[in-house]
Amino acid sequence: MILKIVKYPEPVLSQPGEPVTEFDAKLKKLVDDMFETMYASQGIGLAAPQVAVSKRVTIVDLSQGKDPAQKLVLVNPEVIFREGKQYEEEGCLSFPEIREKVQRASKVRVRAQDLKGKWFEMDGEELLSRAFQHEIDHLDGMLFIFRMSSLKRDLVLRKIRKMQREGTW
Ligand code: ZN
Repeated sequence: MILKIVKYPEPVLSQPGEPVTEFDAKLKKLVDDMFETMYASQGIGLAAPQVAVSKRVTIVDLSQGKDPAQKLVLVNPEVIFREGKQYEEEGCLSFPEIREKVQRASKVRVRAQDLKGKWFEMDGEELLSRAFQHEIDHLDGMLFIFRMSSLKRDLVLRKIRKMQREGTW
């Protein structure tokens, strides 16, 4: 089922997600629906708060559904190691049409649980590292506009207000 992706400034996007404690069929269904929703919007990552579910669940698939090996589910994830810097353009499904350069670590290691509750660790570099950091930020209620310089953030917020007035946001 395709879920509605909420846009900024929906309050759920700024709230830290609740840790997941039940690894049940309901969680599996949420994740399946999130993949369907993300693929329908051509995204490479989606966090549960973006579908108005305030839980620490996120998915990433850099292949956008083309390679099952790249389909990743991270439950209760944490960045446990970060290294280097990268400064590249980033987008967010909760900020349609907004793309700006954001500084991130070039390499991260994440620790997370899978759908059965089993803990695992995984390294990410470049785009995967960026996706991990962007999505885990969502679970802390942190949005990518707050990783931009205040100058860029002001420009983005002005653009959003303009679109809101025109009824296109
Ligand atoms: Zn996002």
